[in-house]
Amino acid sequence: MAVAWRQSPETHEVLNQPPPLAPYNVFDADLALSEGVAREGGAWGEHRLRDTGALAGTPETIEHSERAERNEPRLRTHDRYGNRIDEVELDPSWDWLLRQAVEREIHSLPWRDPREGAHVVRAGLMFLWSQANAGVMCPVSMTYSVIPALRLNEELAAEWEPRLTLPSLDDGALAGMAMTEKQGGSDVRANTTSAEPAGDGMYEITGHKWFCSYPPCDIFLTLAQGPEGLSCFLIEGEDPGFRVQRLKDKLGTRSLPSSEVEFHGVKGHLVGEAGRGVAAITRMVNHTRLDCLIGSAAGMRWGTAQAVHHARHRSAFGAPLAEQPLMRNVLADLAIESEAATATAMRVARAYDEADAPFRRLATAVSKYWVCKRAPVHAAEALECLGGNGYVEESGMPRLLRDSPLNSIWEGSGNVAALDVLRVMSKEPDALPAFMAELEQARGGDLRFDGHLDKLRGSPVTDPQWEARRLVEDLALGLQGSLLVRHAPPEVAHAFCASRLHGHSGRAFGTLPTQVDAEAIVERALAA
Ligand SMILES: Cc1cc2nc3c(=O)[nH]c(=O)nc-3n(C[C@H](O)[C@H](O)[C@H](O)COP(=O)(O)OP(=O)(O)OC[C@H]3O[C@@H](n4cnc5c(N)ncnc54)[C@H](O)[C@@H]3O)c2cc1C
Repeated sequence: MAVAWRQSPETHEVLNQPPPLAPYNVFDADLALSEGVAREGGAWGEHRLRDTGALAGTPETIEHSERAERNEPRLRTHDRYGNRIDEVELDPSWDWLLRQAVEREIHSLPWRDPREGAHVVRAGLMFLWSQANAGVMCPVSMTYSVIPALRLNEELAAEWEPRLTLPSLDDGALAGMAMTEKQGGSDVRANTTSAEPAGDGMYEITGHKWFCSYPPCDIFLTLAQGPEGLSCFLIEGEDPGFRVQRLKDKLGTRSLPSSEVEFHGVKGHLVGEAGRGVAAITRMVNHTRLDCLIGSAAGMRWGTAQAVHHARHRSAFGAPLAEQPLMRNVLADLAIESEAATATAMRVARAYDEADAPFRRLATAVSKYWVCKRAPVHAAEALECLGGNGYVEESGMPRLLRDSPLNSIWEGSGNVAALDVLRVMSKEPDALPAFMAELEQARGGDLRFDGHLDKLRGSPVTDPQWEARRLVEDLALGLQGSLLVRHAPPEVAHAFCASRLHGHSGRAFGTLPTQVDAEAIVERALAA
C-alpha cells in the first residue's frame, strides 16, 4: 500500500479556486478612473497612465510588493567598530517599487511640467501605483508635497528643487517631514524641540520627533521653537546630529520604515517666516492630505476589483457568487463607494491645478475626512467577499486591511480633520460658498440629491464641535453626489442617491435598495 501511495501522490484536483487577477492593466480596467482623469483635464496623460497601469498589474510587481512587505526594514544604528551609522536596510524590492514611482515622476510631475491637468495626471499615477504598494508612496507623496513649502525660501528652492524633482532615484533626492512629538501630534504648537540661532543665519535644532517616516530621506521639514516662536526648518538627514532611535513596529505599511528620531544640534535652515512655522509646513501638509484621499480611494478600488474578480470565479450552492443577488448587492455597493471616492479624488486634484483656492481648501479637508474614514470598512467587506482566502496573507487583502486606517490618522486624524473643516468655514469666507457652488451644479439632476442639498442649506448647526462629523459627512456626501449625478452612468448615480442620500441607508455594505441595476454597476467596476 505504501508503495502504491508513493507512485500516485495526487489525491485530488483543485477546483473552484479563482485564477489570480494578473496580469491586468489597472488603468484600462478602471473606467471610473480613466473617465475621471479625462474629465478633470488630464486626458493628455493617458499614455503614461496606461503604461503605469500595465506595470502595476503584472505578477512581477505583485511579487516585489509581497517581498518588500515580507522582508521588513531593519535599523542598524552602529557599524562593527561601534561607530554610529543609523542605516536602514531595505529589501531590493522596496528599491524597485520606489524607483518605478520616481522614474514615472509621481513625486514631481506638476513641478516639472506645470501644464493644466498636471496634478490630475499625477493623481492618477499615484492612484495606480498605490495599488502596487501603499507604503512606498509615503516618501513619494512627501517629496511631491514639500515643493510649495520650500518655495517660500528662494535659495533653498534653488538648491533642492532640481534634485527633488529629478526622475532618478540614484541622482535625485527625497523629502520627509518630522512634526509629531511624544506629547502631541495634532497639537503641534505644544512642540518642545528648540531652535537656537547659530550666528551664521542658520539654527541649531535640539529635541526629538516621535514619528518620522522614511528616515533615509535626504531632507526633512521640521518644526521647532525658535526665538520668535514655532518655526519651520529644513534639516538634512546626513547631519551628524540626526539620530534614528528605533523603527516603529506598526499595524500596517510594514514595508515602510517609520522611525523615532532625536536631534542633537542639527543644522536647520529657516523655511518661511520665523514664528510662522505652522503656516509654512501647512503648505506641505495640504498636498499630503490630498494624497491621503487619493491613497484611500486607490485602496477601495483595489479591494473592489479583487472582490468582483473572486466572486465571478467562485461558485457556492451551484452558482457563481457574483450571480447571486445578495453578493451582487454587496459588490455593487462596494463599487459605488469606490467610484464616488475616485471621482472625488480626481476633482479635488484638479483644484490644485486651477489655483481654485477657496474650493480646494474646504474640499480637501472634507474629502480627506470622509474617504479615509470609509476605507477600513470598505477593505473589511471586500476581504470578506473572498471568504477564508481573503483572510490569508497571499491574497493581499490582509495587507489592504492593515494599511487602510493609516490615511485617516496621518495628517489630521478624523476629529482634527473635521475640526479643520469648521476652521476653514469660519476663517475663509469664500470657502463654503465655493464648495456649495460646486454642489449646486448638479441641482435638478436627481430629486434625492436636491433634497440633500436643501437639508445641507437648511439644517442649523447649534453646537459646531459636537456636530462636526455629521456636518462634514453631509458635505462629503453632497460633493460625491454632485459628481456622480453629473458625470457617472445613471445606474451608478441612482444607486448612490438611493442608498446614501435618501431614506433608509444600511449601515453595512450590501444594503442597496431594490430597483438598483447591480449587474450594470458590477460590470462597469470590472469588465468580465
Ligand atoms: C505610520 C505612521 C507614520 C507617520 N509618519 C509621520 C511622519 O513622517 N511625520 C510626522 O510628523 N508624523 C507622522 N506620523 C504621526 C501622525 O501624523 C500623528 O500620529 C497624527 O497627527 C496624530 O497625532 P498623535 O498621534 O499625537 O495623536 P493625538 O494628537 O494625541 O490625537 C489622539 C486622538 O485625539 C483626537 N483629537 C486631537 N485633538 C482633538 C480635539 N481638539 N478634539 C477632539 N479630538 C481631538 C485625534 O483626532 C485622535 O483621534 C505618523 C503616524 C503613523 C501612524
